[in-house]
Amino acid sequence: MQPIRFEEADSTERTQIGEGLTRVAVVAGRLETGRSEGKYFLRHDDGCAVCGEPVVAGNPFYLDPDTGEILCEIHGKERREA
Ligand SMILES: [Zn+2]
Repeated sequence: MQPIRFEEADSTERTQIGEGLTRVAVVAGRLETGRSEGKYFLRHDDGCAVCGEPVVAGNPFYLDPDTGEILCEIHGKERREA
């Protein structure tokens, strides 16, 4: 499966996701629930698995559903095209 692109991160730590993405978030071990500001969140506070770049609020990032890794814009795109 190709890395999934998220258009805008909510924060460095996590981004709210729709119900359709919860399964992928669970498999990645990144699902967060029970927060007051929303139902489902994807945790990404470890940043890009390749370069360590943190996710920045308002910026895009990727999740590789096969490995559960978070990727920055550059490395997500790279893996998508590989
Ligand atoms: Zn990167």
